[in-house]
Amino acid sequence: MTRAISGYHLEGSVPLIFEKGAPGRRGYRLRERAVDELPLDELTPPEHQRQQDAPLPEVSELEAVRHFIALSRRNYGVDVGFYPLGSCTMKYNPKVNELMASLPGFAHVHPYQPEETVQGALELMYNLEKYLCEIAGLSRATLQPAAGAHGELLGLMVMKAYHESRGDHHRVEVIVPDSAHGTNPASAAMCGYKVVQVGSNERGSVDVEQLRALVGPNTAGLMLTNPNTLGLFEEDILEIAHIVHEAGGLLYYDGANANAILGRARPGDMGFDIVHFNLHKTFSTPHGGGGPGAGPIAVREDLVRFLPVPMVEKDGDRFYLDYDRPDAVGRIKAFYGNFGMLVRAYTYIRTHGPEGLRRVSERAVINANYLMRRLAGHFELPYDRHCMHEFVLSGVRQKKQGVRTLDIAKRLLDYGVHAPTIYFPLIVDEAIMIEPTETESKETLDEFVDIMLRIVREIEEDPDLVRNAPHNTPVRRLDEARAARQPNLCWCPPVEGAAGE
Ligand SMILES: *Cc1c(COP(=O)(O)O)cnc(C)c1O
Repeated sequence: MTRAISGYHLEGSVPLIFEKGAPGRRGYRLRERAVDELPLDELTPPEHQRQQDAPLPEVSELEAVRHFIALSRRNYGVDVGFYPLGSCTMKYNPKVNELMASLPGFAHVHPYQPEETVQGALELMYNLEKYLCEIAGLSRATLQPAAGAHGELLGLMVMKAYHESRGDHHRVEVIVPDSAHGTNPASAAMCGYKVVQVGSNERGSVDVEQLRALVGPNTAGLMLTNPNTLGLFEEDILEIAHIVHEAGGLLYYDGANANAILGRARPGDMGFDIVHFNLHKTFSTPHGGGGPGAGPIAVREDLVRFLPVPMVEKDGDRFYLDYDRPDAVGRIKAFYGNFGMLVRAYTYIRTHGPEGLRRVSERAVINANYLMRRLAGHFELPYDRHCMHEFVLSGVRQKKQGVRTLDIAKRLLDYGVHAPTIYFPLIVDEAIMIEPTETESKETLDEFVDIMLRIVREIEEDPDLVRNAPHNTPVRRLDEARAARQPNLCWCPPVEGAAGE
C-alpha cells in the first residue's frame, strides 16, 4: 500500500494517529480559566459554529505521545547530528536564545500594544539594528524581511527607488555572477530587473574584465556574495566596487552566510551599499522546514530614506516607531518582522560579544579548511585555494566509477549524517558543498572524514551498495519531483464504506 505523509509518498504501512485509538479514549489536561468562561454564542456566532464534531481520532495520552515522538525520530536536525549543508549554515542554535525568546515580556507582546508598554521590545530592536549596522559597516538597517530572499527583494526595491529618485529610469539591469545563489537572479527578476550574468574565472572569482565590459548606463547594480558560494574570498572586491560605482550602479551584498567575516571584514568597507543578513544562518536562529526566518537589510547613509516604515527611533529615553518617512518604499512585512527571531539573534550577539563573534568566524574558517585538506586527496578539489567558511568538492572521480554525487549524499544518510549541499554552485560538475560551521568539535569533523573515506572505499569495492543507498532510513529514495508537484499535505478521513487509501 502507498500512503502519503507530509508530501512524501511512502511505501509500506505507516500508522497515522488518525488510524489509532478507539471511541472514548482520552488524555487529560488541567483546565485554564480564560475566555472559555464566556458563553460560546458570545465568542462565535451560531451560524459559524460547527454542527457536527470534527472527525478527530480519540487517543489516549500515551498513544499521542508515542505518535509525536515517533514522528520526531524520523526527522533530522542539528540537535540530532552533523549537518554540513553548504550555504545553509546549520550551526547549533544555543538554548539560551530560546529561553530569552520565551520570556513572557517578549513572547506575549501584541503588535498593537501602546508603545509605552513595549519599550523593552523596541529597545531590543533598536540595539539589534545598531549591532547589525556595526557588523555590516553601514548606516541604518530594517529588521522587517522574513527571509534572505525577502531581504534581497527589499534591497533591490531600495536600489530601484534610489535610481528613480535620480531620474535614472534606464537602469534596468542587475548583474549576477554565475556562481550566485538562485535567489539572487530570482529576486532581481521579481523586482522587475533584467538579469545579466557575469562569469567566473579559473580561480573561482568574478571575471573582472568581463564585468568591466558588462557595466554601463543601464546598470542598476551588481549582486555579490563575499566569500562567494564556492567559499572563496573575492580578492578583487575593491576593484569590482570601483567598476560598478563608476558606472553609476550600486553594490548589493548577499550576506546570508556571514560566518566567515563576522568581526573581521565589513561589507561596507569593501564598498557594498546594501546588505542583507540571514539571522537564521549566521546569527543562530533556527531554520529549516520553511520556519520563520529573518533577513534584515542594512544600507549606506544616502539610502536610509528609502527603508520601509516603521523604523524604531529613540527620543531621549523613549523608543518609538516612526511612520513619517515620505520616501520609504512602503512596508515589506506586517508589523515589525519575525520578532521572536530578533530576540534570539540579539541574544546570540550579546552572549558572544565582539571577541566571541571574531572567534566564530575564525573557527568557522579553520573547521572548513581542516575538512577541505583532509578530503582533498580523495575527491577532486576544483579550486585549490584557502577556503573561507565552506568549500566545494567535485564527485567527478567517483562519477567515472559509476557513482554519482547524489548516491554519495544518500549513502551518508545511512551513517547518520545529513548530506552536504549537492549540485550547487552550478559551475562545479557533481558539486559537493560542505560547510561544517564553528560549532562542531574536531572529533565530529574527524568522524565525518572517516565516513566519507569509507564511502570512497565502498565505491571501489561495492558500488551498488552506494548506488542503492540509503538502506537504513525510514524511507528510501523519495520521488522528489512528485512530492513537489503534487504535494499531499492533508490527511482526509476515509469515507465510510469506500475502499482505498
Ligand atoms: C540561504 C541563502 C539565501 C536565501 O535565504 P533564504 O532565507 O532561504 O531566503 C540567499 N543567498 C545565499 C548565499 C544563501 O545561502
